[in-house]
Amino acid sequence: TTTTATTAAQSGANGQLFARAKNSIPGGVNSPVRAYGSVGGTPRFLTAAKGAYVTDAEGREYVDLVASWGPAILGHAHPGTVEAVQQAASRGLSFGASTPGETELAELVKQRVQVDGDGPIEKLRMVSTGTEATMTAIRLARGYTGRDLLVKFAGHYHGHSDSLLAEAGSGVATLALPGSAGITAETAAQTLVLPYNDLDAVRRAFDEHSERIAAVIVEAAAANMGVLAPERGFNRALAQITKANGALLIVDEVLTGFRVGPAGWWGLEASNTVPDGIGWKPDLVTFGKVIGGGMPLAALGGRREVMDFLAPLGPVYQAGTLSGNPLAVAAGTATLRAATPEVYAHLDRTAATIAEATSAALSAEGVAHTVQHAGNLFSFAFLDEAPRNYDDVRAQEAFRYAPFFHAMLDADVTLPPSVFEAWFVTAAHDDRAVSRVLEALPAAAKAAAA
Ligand code: PLP
Repeated sequence: TTTTATTAAQSGANGQLFARAKNSIPGGVNSPVRAYGSVGGTPRFLTAAKGAYVTDAEGREYVDLVASWGPAILGHAHPGTVEAVQQAASRGLSFGASTPGETELAELVKQRVQVDGDGPIEKLRMVSTGTEATMTAIRLARGYTGRDLLVKFAGHYHGHSDSLLAEAGSGVATLALPGSAGITAETAAQTLVLPYNDLDAVRRAFDEHSERIAAVIVEAAAANMGVLAPERGFNRALAQITKANGALLIVDEVLTGFRVGPAGWWGLEASNTVPDGIGWKPDLVTFGKVIGGGMPLAALGGRREVMDFLAPLGPVYQAGTLSGNPLAVAAGTATLRAATPEVYAHLDRTAATIAEATSAALSAEGVAHTVQHAGNLFSFAFLDEAPRNYDDVRAQEAFRYAPFFHAMLDADVTLPPSVFEAWFVTAAHDDRAVSRVLEALPAAAKAAAA
């Protein structure tokens, strides 16, 4: 009886932990999508993660296709990364002073984000989250240009700072919110939200407000309304239009940077892996996720003369007690060093295998869908035709995702708990992990069809 009682208690551990969390943490979570709001059911409370797998509070192991929403590119608890962090920790957790490792990481980033010896990063400033990186990039663009307006695209997520939460995709889309309460009308009015992949709309915005637009910010390839890659030449045209109008182009590679390739999405375009992308450079680029290897680290980088507008050289203030934290820098440096061309080739193959199998399973059940790719990032939209923008994506049969998600979860595979998020593979997703995903697909596709 003791064993039965223990088992019964354990089998409800996720539910119990969620109930307890809700008493002390709003919604029981520290980031909204974790609450399973759009898929329903009990969120899994994780206690450990290793390689391609995560383990929940009930001791159940899942193949993980979330990868901490991107950072775990090498797989969870990669030995080299963990060791680098442990060694750094033994030397002190935070100094609030400069360290040799920060310059080393900045140099590594500059050197990696290059194609044919040329790249957009001349200087880099480290912060702790992607939100801070984009928020600072915008302040910097405003300070540098002396202008006030910002252009963003509907469905693009750049973190949760006030001016960027308009039609912001991701968790906001998952919760079906238009934006967020608590943002003043004055702030909202300074952000022009345009449809993605629509250069005429961009040109019209500049025709009307040419003297006032400080910057256009764009996800390098959109991946927070599901994955939605830019159309041929879109990013390059943004670079041309902003330059012609004295505005800056901020390319947000928080999600794509060091994930879709060693030089991010820009690197794919600049090497013409993505056709028509060659010959352009952003003024500013933001990084997060992989750059911190699972620790809180993000960065903004770009042209020297713009970056030097930041304090202490320039008039644009930005700072952080934990900026360039030594543990985070150690994790990021170890991760980038281990993310070799072989790793990216493996990610590309693995993503293609899972995407093709998922699509085949959905087709076998007659579920209309499109496969959305941006390099090794992928997701599915329950639509007949490939979407171009946020309106298209929102028109899908999103209700099909919850039963699909839960059928996968029942088969011990964790997907992002929202149809508006990318799926992530890692270097640790080997044949065994991939077969477990593939085996789970037919039943999940059947559930989606119902
Ligand atoms: N920009 C993009 C493209 C993102 O995907 C995210 C997070 O998902 C952010 C910015 C914000 O990063 P963080 O969650 O670290 O604040």
